[in-house]
Amino acid sequence: MTPKKTLFGIDIDAMRMPEAVDKLRAWIEADVPAEGCRFVVTPNVDHAVLLQENPGLRDAYDDAAMILADGHPIVWASRLLRQPLPERVAGSELVPKLFDSFQESGELRVFLLGAAEGVAFRAAENMKETWPRVKTVGIYSPPLGFEKDDSENKRILNLIAQAKPDVVVVGLGAPKQELWVHQHHNKMEAKAALCVGATIDFLAGEKKRAPVWMQRAGVEWLHRMCSEPKRLVKRYAKDAWIFPQLVWRQMIGWEQASGT
Ligand code: UDP
Repeated sequence: MTPKKTLFGIDIDAMRMPEAVDKLRAWIEADVPAEGCRFVVTPNVDHAVLLQENPGLRDAYDDAAMILADGHPIVWASRLLRQPLPERVAGSELVPKLFDSFQESGELRVFLLGAAEGVAFRAAENMKETWPRVKTVGIYSPPLGFEKDDSENKRILNLIAQAKPDVVVVGLGAPKQELWVHQHHNKMEAKAALCVGATIDFLAGEKKRAPVWMQRAGVEWLHRMCSEPKRLVKRYAKDAWIFPQLVWRQMIGWEQASGT
């Protein structure tokens, strides 16, 4: 069992990228457990903040089979709070690393769920070129508000069942993707579902990831904010106000517990 580090009420797996890929491969080779398709969530600062006020998201996190630290600030906070995580394991990096691994040995069946109409199709085209052994066996971009429509949810589950993927890459944005997967994972006929935000956009080349120096410096959020200011400025302002409070609260708790 991988050790976990508890940060802001989230039990995050203390693992590096290769271990996360190995674990996914082990799930793909094994039978689906009775509880249903295993799923992965990748917390960043925004998730940590959302989780404080969203019990549904908390429940989804409680049932996730793997919880990986998506953002550098989470890793920095883990060190400050003496719950050190070994490294950042971003969802948008995990997916290509998993594909690399199957390109080296094996064959992987993937279903792309989410992103705007046409984007997943372009992602699949790019994937075919880069990872010929990774087969995109299904694509679906659900319409706005789909999650409240029972027939639409059934339709998605049927599409997945027909396509028989090993992995469903779910890019519906947070917290929608985590809530949807949590609600339906016991009916999802796949070995693993990965809740990975804008990964399908990245695979399609629709959105560009921040330059490597920005990723290394932990300011990828700044790049994202500049590329989608209308959507993200308010969110990041709230996160910048609440997140340090979460860190501080845990720090005080830790200091009291250790008597310092
Ligand atoms: N998205 C979607 N359906 C929705 C809402 C969002 O397919 O109902 C997609 C959107 O097109 C984009 C991704 O979800 O591909 C958003 O990912 P991102 O990580 O940017 O969202 P965040 O979690 O930051 O809100």
